[in-house]
Amino acid sequence: MTLSGPIVEAKRLILKIGSSLLVDEASGLVRRSWLESVCADIAACRQRGQEVIVVSSGAVAVGRRKLGLTPPLRLEEKQAAAATGQIRLAHDYQEALAHYGLTVAQVLLTLYDSDHRRRYLNARATLETLLRLGAVPVINENDTVATAEIRFGDNDRLAARVAQMVSADALVLFSDIDGLYTADPRKDPEARFIPEVREMTPAIEAMAGDPGSAYGSGGMITKLAAAKICLSAGCKMAIARGQAMNPLAAVTNGGRCTWFLPEGSPRTARKQWIYGAMSPAGAVVLDAGAVRALQRGGSLLPAGVTGIEGEFDRGDCILVKTADGKVLGRGLSAYAAEDARRIAGRQSADIETILGFHGRDELIHRDDLVVEG
Ligand code: GLU
Repeated sequence: MTLSGPIVEAKRLILKIGSSLLVDEASGLVRRSWLESVCADIAACRQRGQEVIVVSSGAVAVGRRKLGLTPPLRLEEKQAAAATGQIRLAHDYQEALAHYGLTVAQVLLTLYDSDHRRRYLNARATLETLLRLGAVPVINENDTVATAEIRFGDNDRLAARVAQMVSADALVLFSDIDGLYTADPRKDPEARFIPEVREMTPAIEAMAGDPGSAYGSGGMITKLAAAKICLSAGCKMAIARGQAMNPLAAVTNGGRCTWFLPEGSPRTARKQWIYGAMSPAGAVVLDAGAVRALQRGGSLLPAGVTGIEGEFDRGDCILVKTADGKVLGRGLSAYAAEDARRIAGRQSADIETILGFHGRDELIHRDDLVVEG
């Protein structure tokens, strides 16, 4: 059988696994055989050459039993529980994936890491490197340091932010419900299943229900918030039921779920973001060879730079200009202005000797560059 659809077509795929799927309610232990079946699905993706990131909850649910805590937990008790549970969780993922020869990498993020440019760039570079090296990053919120004001609070939105950060092609939120309904299907027999959403309208948002209801709180509301992020990031997102064994294989084989399908790709969304969201903090002036390289879709190397204008930080948006001042486009600089001035006109191989650290070969990578038509 030839498989098709958003999951197999995704070069970069994110799976979000909720606590209620991973942790047995009665014992507080990780459901090992289920986890192993998820890891078998991940191994199948890796076999097809896909990159996979897991965003997993469960730290609090596992850890609170070990510390003898009973809900409702205060924030600091949740943080203590997460500190204990996260080790167990990471260990279980490590063992289950090792079975398929896959290496796990634990990454703990806070809301700050997706909001602050430099931290965002660092987190993105680490994830990119892990994926390039064939590891499977397993991400959770850094609950032990995330206080109320700086919390994601839910891993649905964390997963969507990660998807946006790494320009993922698809995200699957595994949950205890098989998708979006016009109303809570557990209460309303008239509730209709929605197989596909292409745009986040007020009518769709209203389907999440009232935040006070079980269907609403941390349920459909955070999933729709995640879908909104994904739609704007060009990432396809599914809400799918996860309880059964091999849940990803089930969705891949056409199992019921709701797909949120954006218009553009992650690449176009990222370029729109570069173009629309930031005002340029400076500029870089290119020689004729670099202008040609850019017009052919290449990256901007320091060797082709003849001048740097203004003051900017690493990750800031800067204009790209020709020698006679014509604006060619804009992009995110991999270096601060001060460092860019020192490496301008020099070979990438000399960057380390000049700056004393090994930065990127490109001053602006082609993924971070928008050349005007
Ligand atoms: N980070 C929390 C945990 O690992 C879970 C947050 C969520 O389930 O959305 O327990």
